[in-house]
Order: sequence, then C-alpha cells, then structure tokens
Amino acid sequence: MTIVRFHGGCHQIGMSCVEIDTKKSKILVDCGMNPSDNSLPKINPNDIDAVVVSHSHLDHCGAVPYFNFKNPIYSTIPSVDLMYILWKDISKLSKTYPEENIQKAMNNIKAVNYREPKKITSDITMRLYDAGHILGSSSVYLDIGGKKLLYTGDINEIETRTLKSADTDIDEIDTLIIESTYGAPTDIKPSRKALEKQLIDEISATIEKGGKVIIPVFAVGRSQEIIAVLHNYMRSKLLKRVPIYVEGSLVHTTGIYMSHSEWLNPKIRNNLENRINPFGDVTIVNKENSSEIYNKEPCIIISTSGMVQGGPILQYLKLLKSPKNKIILTGFQAEETLGRQLEDGAEEITPFRNKIPVRGEVVKVEFSAHSDYNSLIRYMKKIPKPKKVFVMHGERYQSLSFAMTIWKNFKIPAIAPTAGSILPLF
Ligand SMILES: [Zn+2]
Ligand SMILES: [Zn+2]
Repeated sequence: MTIVRFHGGCHQIGMSCVEIDTKKSKILVDCGMNPSDNSLPKINPNDIDAVVVSHSHLDHCGAVPYFNFKNPIYSTIPSVDLMYILWKDISKLSKTYPEENIQKAMNNIKAVNYREPKKITSDITMRLYDAGHILGSSSVYLDIGGKKLLYTGDINEIETRTLKSADTDIDEIDTLIIESTYGAPTDIKPSRKALEKQLIDEISATIEKGGKVIIPVFAVGRSQEIIAVLHNYMRSKLLKRVPIYVEGSLVHTTGIYMSHSEWLNPKIRNNLENRINPFGDVTIVNKENSSEIYNKEPCIIISTSGMVQGGPILQYLKLLKSPKNKIILTGFQAEETLGRQLEDGAEEITPFRNKIPVRGEVVKVEFSAHSDYNSLIRYMKKIPKPKKVFVMHGERYQSLSFAMTIWKNFKIPAIAPTAGSILPLF
C-alpha cells in the first residue's frame, strides 16, 4: 500500500510538505516553511529518495536547503532560478540555514519542463503541469506503480496578465490532493477586471490628492502582476504616469520573469518581442534616488514583504503618518503580521523601535494568484474525476468547507487531514 504523510500545510497556509511512501521509495512533494514564524517540517532527510517542489513560494520550497537532501530535487527551470533568490533572502534574514546549504541544494537540483516525463525513483514517474499561479508553478502528477496522484500545488484557474490559466488537460487521477486557500463558499472574489479597476481607482484617488501609494507585495508573482497591470493602465492613459519605485528581492525576481518569457502568458511574450516591456516602467531604488521618494510627489512604491513582516517596505511605513498617503494590501495577511494589524485598523504600528501613528488610508485589494471558490469548482470539473480527495493549503474553515463541497457536489470522498496524519493514498 502507498501511504501519504501530511507533515504540514494542513488546516493552514504555510509549510506545505507531503511525504509519499511506497513499497520501494519515499519522496517529498514540497518542503515549505511557515513564512510567518519560520517554522519547518519535521522529517528525516536521509530516508528521502527524491524531492519535488511545486513552485518557488516559501511555504512550498523554503525548508529545502535546511535538510541537505542527498538525493535529487526536481522543479521547473524558472522555479530553480526563483528559489535561489528566495533561499538567499531567507538565509540572510532569518539565519534558518547557512549559505553553503543553498549551494548544496542547487547542486542537487534537476530542472524539468512542463509535461516532461521523469522517472524519479524505481516506481515513481513524475510530470509537472502548469499551475497558472506564478512563473514556473506546477501541479505534480505522479504515476506510482500504475496508480495516479495529482497534487495541485497552488493553482489559478483563470488567465492573468502574466500567466496562462492552470493546465487541466490531464489523463486520469486516482487520488487528488488539492489546495483550498479560498475553499469556503463565501470566498467569491471579484473578476480580475473588477479587481484591476479597484486597484487603479484607489491609486488614482491618492495620486490626485498628491499623495503616495505604498504597495507591499510578495517577491514572486504578485509584484510582477501588479507592475504589469500598472504598465497597461498607464500605457492606455487610464492611470496618470507617476514614478513607480521598486525595492527588494522583487527586482531580481522580475528579472527572472523577463528572462523566462516563454513560460509567461503569450501576450506578454509578444510584447517583449515587440520591445514593449510590461515590467520596464519602474525605477529601482538606490542610494542616489531614495530621497526622491520622500521629496517628490506623488509616486507609487512597490516593495517586499507582502505581509509587511520585514523587507524594505518597513522603512516606508512612516509615510502613513500623513493622511494624504495610502497603503494597499494586495494579499492574504497572516495573523500576527504587521499587515494584519494594518488590515484590522491598528491606530499605530511599531515596525522598528518607535511607534508610528496610522493616519494614512489602509485598503485591501486582494490580487490573489489563487483560484477562488467558484474557480476551484470549475477546476474540479475540468480535471478527470478522482476516486478520493485530500484537501490542504487552506485555513481550517476553508479546508473543511471545501472537503464538504467535494462530497456534496461531486460525490467523491474527501477529507481535510490534520498535520501529522498518515493515510492510505490509494
Ligand atoms: Zn504559492
Ligand atoms: Zn502556497
């Protein structure tokens, strides 16, 4: 019997890590860390014959260098480049692992293309499918002695500015492990167009008042999507052209987006080929120009980290002393982050030693790279019907709700396992 051990990413978003034990081999699918407290899964790395990383977000790849795996680590070509930057960041900021571990992990990586079959152990063949979530993101499809598992990873079922929608053209599935970030029936998000308009309206209102807009973002995915949206609206003159300052690791990750254009939405690829660079309207903050941000008005500042927990964004929070300025939160804000405090209406925040009164406006335009509830259901309808489903990568309510939805709407047994669960996979 093949069994699955859920090490993390159960009833939570963070630390996704699933171990699959067959008669002949043991592999990990994802090996993430919990970005809000840097906690890591508890595994024995010496047992592991292969690691497959679905994409380069820290909740899926962050713990890999910590374990010094001696066997190969598989991921897509762009994911490898992106992971290198993120791992370096983590090792610098949190000292979770030393730099030499990153080098060792890089030496063990085998980069693959989408849909390329790869025998990763004596009884497991792997294929990665485009998950539509961030550059190089994949759903992991495993043939385990003839039985088929699809681990969706983080998926986006709709097309975005930067990426195609998730690839659902998949053969057959015995067991499905699906994410549930927006798995509750109340998790219905506005259309992409409406969201873009909301973002542009919020920015325009502040620019008109002569204020500055601060946008905290995740280095991979959200930042490139927002830069591409701003480019599009400025180009079509629906948004006034003001300086866009960028800072942090997103500068490097955006470079990687540009250098892997064949993995992006073909529209972006065409633009790049016609020398229209959707990521090119930005000014990188350096020593010489950093004072402009405070002296010149208005402007837009895009910087990491997305949950306002560290990164260069912290130094711009003092701009919130002025009611003219605005911060736009663009994604999920975990508990106990500064982003969550702002979202919850904190009157003052303490990013460093001194308290900062929050007089500027705080708004949230959730620019998610995940499928919402309806979109998850559409995804389920597009893929072949599995015999069994495990639901993970969602807060408790979301995971449990989506498991119920699958039972009710699709008549497939579905559970949302807790961390530590050991269950039969087939
Ligand atoms: Zn992700
Ligand atoms: Zn994730």
